[in-house]
Parts: sequence; C-alpha cells; structure tokens
Amino acid sequence: MVVANNSDLTYKSGNAGVHPPSEAFLWNLLNQIPDPDIPVVSIVELGLVREVKITDKLKAEVTITPSYSGCPAQSVFTDDIKSLLKQNGFNEVEVKVALSPAWTTDWLSNDTKEKMRLHGIAPPENEPEAEALFCKQNKVKCPRCGNTNTHIISRFGSTPCKALWYCNYCSQPFEYFKCF
Ligand SMILES: [Zn+2]
Repeated sequence: MVVANNSDLTYKSGNAGVHPPSEAFLWNLLNQIPDPDIPVVSIVELGLVREVKITDKLKAEVTITPSYSGCPAQSVFTDDIKSLLKQNGFNEVEVKVALSPAWTTDWLSNDTKEKMRLHGIAPPENEPEAEALFCKQNKVKCPRCGNTNTHIISRFGSTPCKALWYCNYCSQPFEYFKCF
C-alpha cells in the first residue's frame, strides 16, 4: 500500500471547507505511486498521468493514458490512485482513461531516463515511430557500461513492455524499456 510520506503536504480532512487541497498536492500524491512494471519511477514520471482536477465536495478526477493498450499494470495503478487519494482526504476518486494522444516515450524526461539507467534498465533510445514501424532496435546501450555491443535475447522481459538484452562487453543481461 502506498502512503503519502510528506507530512507538510498531508491534507487535513478537518479543514475541508477552509483549505481545499490544491492540484499541486494531488500531483505530489500521484508522484508517490510507483509504476507497477518499473517501480523505480512513478506513474507521473512515466507520463501516465495527463490531467488532474479537483471538483467540489472533494472529488478528484485523474486522467491517465496507459503506456500501451492492454497493459496489465493499468488496473494495478488505478487501484493505487483510488486508495491513496481516499486515504488523503478525497471523498471520491474518478480515474478517466484518455487514449488520444497516445502515450509516447517522448514524454519521459531525461531525468527519468537517467533514473531507469541507474537501476539497470535501458531507457528507450530510438524514435518511437521508427521502432514501432520497422522494429528498428539495433542500438540499445547497456545501462551499466554504455556500450552498444549488445544483442537481444528475448522480445519480452519480466513484463511485456520490456525486452531482455545482453551486453557482450559486461557479459550481463539487462532489460530494455521498449518504445511504443
Ligand atoms: Zn555493459
């Protein structure tokens, strides 16, 4: 279970009418929910949360765009969003799904990619369109040594959105977060 850990931002439900929670507070809560497939980054860092809105009577509306259709992780983090926001004073939580514009790895910041690399997951490097259309993935850098002397072992890693690669230089396998 995910619990908010920043006490300064913890919403005091007793103040409902006087100090309604801000959208910044809501973003901060969502940024504490790890992505189920890549727990080192949050669903906000991955760009899965597109929009938040707080309506009257402490209802939160969160719009998400799944990283790819049929992603089994989606129902996991939808439940996480609902339980965390309810624990933090929201009466009602609605999670909406927006499929357009489609999620793209372009929404990952350089900081997020660096975070993935530090945890041994190669972030997407290629142009998403080129890779999706032509399965072009000839230059995946090893997250450990940065060498491109690598080859693919399996198109699917521990989850469908990752592939398993092998670094010929380190003689170690690593996961590559695929482009979509
Ligand atoms: Zn290597």
